[in-house]
Amino acid sequence: MSRPAPFNFRLRGDRVLISNDFGHFLWLDEEAFSAFAKGTLPESDPRFGELCAKGFMAERMDLTALTERWRARNTHLWDASCLHILVVTRNCNMRCVYCHAQAQSGSQWDMSEATAAKIVDRVFETPNKVLTIEFQGGEPLTNFPVVLFVADRARRLAKKTGKELRLSLITNLSLMDEEKYAALRERNIEICSSLDGPAALHDANRLLFGGSSYRRVIRWWNRLRQDGVVPAALLTVTRKTLDHADAVVEEYRKRGATSIALRPLNPLGYAKTVWNKIGYTPEEFLAFYRRALDRVIAANRRGRIFPETTAKVFLTKALAAREPNHMDLRSPCGAGIGQIAYDYDGEIYSCDEGRLLRAMGDDLFHLGHVDAMGPKECALHPTIRTLAQASSLDAQSGCSRCVYKPTCGVCPLLEYVENGDLFTRAPDSRRCRILMGIQDDLFERLRDPRQRKVLETWVDGEMERRGDPAALYQRT
Ligand code: SF4
Ligand code: SF4
Repeated sequence: MSRPAPFNFRLRGDRVLISNDFGHFLWLDEEAFSAFAKGTLPESDPRFGELCAKGFMAERMDLTALTERWRARNTHLWDASCLHILVVTRNCNMRCVYCHAQAQSGSQWDMSEATAAKIVDRVFETPNKVLTIEFQGGEPLTNFPVVLFVADRARRLAKKTGKELRLSLITNLSLMDEEKYAALRERNIEICSSLDGPAALHDANRLLFGGSSYRRVIRWWNRLRQDGVVPAALLTVTRKTLDHADAVVEEYRKRGATSIALRPLNPLGYAKTVWNKIGYTPEEFLAFYRRALDRVIAANRRGRIFPETTAKVFLTKALAAREPNHMDLRSPCGAGIGQIAYDYDGEIYSCDEGRLLRAMGDDLFHLGHVDAMGPKECALHPTIRTLAQASSLDAQSGCSRCVYKPTCGVCPLLEYVENGDLFTRAPDSRRCRILMGIQDDLFERLRDPRQRKVLETWVDGEMERRGDPAALYQRT
C-alpha cells in the first residue's frame, strides 16, 4: 500500500481517468480508484506497478526519471519567442464572412520597407537558435515587395548569426501568379492557405469579388503538388460546415493534404458581428468534431498517416514526454514569450489575436512600438506578465484541479472577449467546453485498441521516425 501523490481525476461513466503534473494518465475502474485514493490499493493489484512507475504513489516515486520527464514536457519555459508574425498589410482583396483581421482596402494599410527593416532586426535580437517569421494580413500578396524585402534581409541575418530561419506566408492565393510563385519558391517560403471544404462551402465562406476563391486555391495547390510540395491549409468551421463533416475531410484527402485542422470559429473581428448567422454552440461544434474525427481515423486506416492537428497536440503531450509548443495550448500561453505580432505600422502586440483586437478598437494587448522595444522588453512588459499569470493553468481555479491540466491551455484573450476577464471561467467558458469535449473524446478513443493504434501514429516525431516525407510539412 502507498499514499497517493497529488493527482487530478475525471469520472467518465464507470471509469475514472487520473493524471499528474508529470503528464501521466491512467484509466482506473471505480473500485480501484477508490482504493488508490484512500491509499489502500494492495501491492498485489495488477495496476500497482504502473501507478508507481507513473508517479502516482507518494512513497514509490522515481524522482530522477519523473523530473526529467517534467523538464522535457516544459521546454518552452526556457525559450524566448520563436514565432514572429508580420502583418505586412491590412489591405485585402477578399471579404471572408468570418474575417478575424477586419480587412481594409488601400495601400495606406501597407507596411513600409523602413518599418519592415526595423522589425527584422528586432526579430534577430531573440536568443533562439530557430526562428519563424510568418507573413500575415490582410492579404500579404497585396504588398509583395515587402514580403520579399523581409525574406531577403532575414535570410542574410540568419546566415550572419548562424540561426535557423523558417519563413511562412499565410495567403488566400487569389493574387498568386507565376512570377510571385517563383520568387516564393526561390526563397524557400512556405505557402499556407485556407481551404474551408468543397467548392460550395469554401466559396460561401470566402468571398472573392467576381470569381471563385476555391478555384484559385485548388489551382495553386495542384501546382505545389506537381512541384513535390505538400500544401499546408487552415480550415475554419462556420455554421454551414457543421452538416458537412464527411465532405470536408474527403476534400482534404482528395486534394493531397497530409493533415487537417478542425478549428472552431472565434467571436473576433467580423465573425463577432455576424455571430448569430455563422456561429454555433460548443456542443454543436463537438458533434461536428466527433463525426469528422471518425472519418479522419477511417481515412488513416485506408492509407497514409493523416492527423487532425488539435488532436495531434494533445496526443503528443499525453503519449510522448514532449512539448509541441503550440502557442495557444501550453501553460503559460505564448503571448509575448513564445510569439510576438508586429502590425503594419510597427506597433507590437502580444500575439496575432492581440492585434486583431486592436482592429476591433481595443488596445489592451498592445505592448509598444518597434522603435522603442525588442523581444526582451516585450517579455518583461507588465501586460505580458499578467497574460502569463492568466494563462498558467496552476493559477486558474478550474484548471488547477482538471484532469487535462497536463495537456491543455487557456486563452486570456478569448476569455476577455467572452467574459471581460483575462482569467478563465473554466469549466463554463466556451473555449473550455470545446477543449474538454475534444479531450474527453480522445481519451475515450485511446481505450479502444484499434483507434489507439491510429492515434499513436499522430504523435509529434512519430511520422519522422517512420520516414514519412509528409512529416516535414506537418504544422501543429
Ligand atoms: S480549460 Fe477546461 S479542459 Fe482545459 S485545463 Fe482548464 S478546465 Fe480543463
Ligand atoms: S492570449 Fe490567446 S491567442 Fe494570444 S497567445 Fe495566448 S492563447 Fe494565444
